[in-house]
Amino acid sequence: MNDHATTTPVEIPGSVGEGGGQVLRTSLALAIQTGKAFHITNIRAKRKTRGLRAQHLACVRAAAEICGATVTGDEIGSGEVTFVPGPVQAGEYSFDIGTAGSTTLVLQTVLPPLLGADGPSTVTITGGTHNPMAPPIEFLGHAFLPELKKMGAEVTLTVERAGFYPAGGGCIKAEISPVSAWESYELLDGGETVGLSASVTLSKLPEHIAERELETIQQKLGMEDEAMHIVLADSDGPGNVVQITAEREHVTELFTGFGAKTVPAEKVAKGVARDYQNYRRNTAPVGEYLADQLLLPLAIGAGGRFRTSKPSQHTRTNAQVIQQFLPTKIHENKVDDFIWEVHVEP
Ligand code: ATP
Repeated sequence: MNDHATTTPVEIPGSVGEGGGQVLRTSLALAIQTGKAFHITNIRAKRKTRGLRAQHLACVRAAAEICGATVTGDEIGSGEVTFVPGPVQAGEYSFDIGTAGSTTLVLQTVLPPLLGADGPSTVTITGGTHNPMAPPIEFLGHAFLPELKKMGAEVTLTVERAGFYPAGGGCIKAEISPVSAWESYELLDGGETVGLSASVTLSKLPEHIAERELETIQQKLGMEDEAMHIVLADSDGPGNVVQITAEREHVTELFTGFGAKTVPAEKVAKGVARDYQNYRRNTAPVGEYLADQLLLPLAIGAGGRFRTSKPSQHTRTNAQVIQQFLPTKIHENKVDDFIWEVHVEP
C-alpha cells in the first residue's frame, strides 16, 4: 500500500445514479485530491458496453501517473478497479488514449488534482477532440475554462490537431498553473446576450455540408453572415461538428451537434439550434453540461452557487460521488418551474 493514502478504500458502486464513466473519473480526481484510496465495482454498469473502454482506461493510467498510484484492474473491459494514490506531482505529461476516445475527459480527470500541485504542469493528450457525449474542445476553451478562471484557476488550452471518431489522432495541450487561492463563485444571472455565432468544423467532407448547416441555423435564428464560420480542420479521418456559441455578459455557453453518415446536415443543425433556443428560453446562465462540470472544481475550491435548468441525472450522480470523498455539501433549490440553484459548500 502507498503510505500517502488512507488504508481503508472508499467503496464506490459504479452503478450509482447514472452509472457511467463520470463515476470513475470523479473518483480518480478526488482520490488524488484527498489521498483516499478507492475500490470501484460494476464500472459503467448502466452502459451498453460495460467496464473500462480505452478512454476510461486512459483516465485511470493518467491519474496513476500524476501521483504514482498503485492500481489493480486497469485493463480493457475491467469492471473493478482499486486505486491507491500517492501525492500529486506537477510535471510534463503525455497521454495517448490509443483510440478516438475523448481527450477532454482525460483532461477532466487530471486537471483538478494538478491545479493543487506544487508547480505548473503541461499535459498533452492524443485521441479524440470532438466526441459525442463528451465536451468538445471548444466547450472547454470557451465555456468551462473562463468559469474556472473566476474561481482562480489559470489553464491555457491548445488544439494541436483535431481528431474525430472513429479515426482519432487529435491532440490537445493544457498548460496548468497551480491555484494560489481559490475564490468563491457565484453565477445567478447570465446577463444580456452580447454575441451569437455559429461554426461548422469540417474535415475530409464536401464543403456543401457545412454551408447547408450554417444556412439552416441562419434561417432558424436570423443571424448575420459575419457570425457564421466554416473551420476546415486537418485530421486523420472525416469529421463534421456544428456549434453555436452564445456569449452573455457573465457567461458563455456552447451547443454542439455531430454530423453522422445517415443524418441529413439540416437535421444536425436544427438540433443544435433547438438546444440553443431551449437554453435562451430557460434564461438560467448555466446549461446542462456546464452544470455537471462545475461541481468538481467548486468542491475542491472555495465553493459557491449557480443557477441552471433542472439538474441532469449526470449532475446529481456527480454530486453524490463528490460527497463520498469530501465533506462538501451539495444541494439544489428549485427557484421556479424552470430554474434550479445549485449550492456547493466545501
Ligand atoms: P460512459 O457513460 O459511456 O462511460 P463517458 O465516460 O464518455 O461515457 P459520461 O459519463 O456520460 O461519459 O460523461 C460525459 C461528460 O461529457 C459530462 O461531463 C458531460 O457534461 C460532457 N458532455 C457531454 N456532451 C457534451 C456537450 N455536447 N457539450 C459539453 N459537454 C458535454
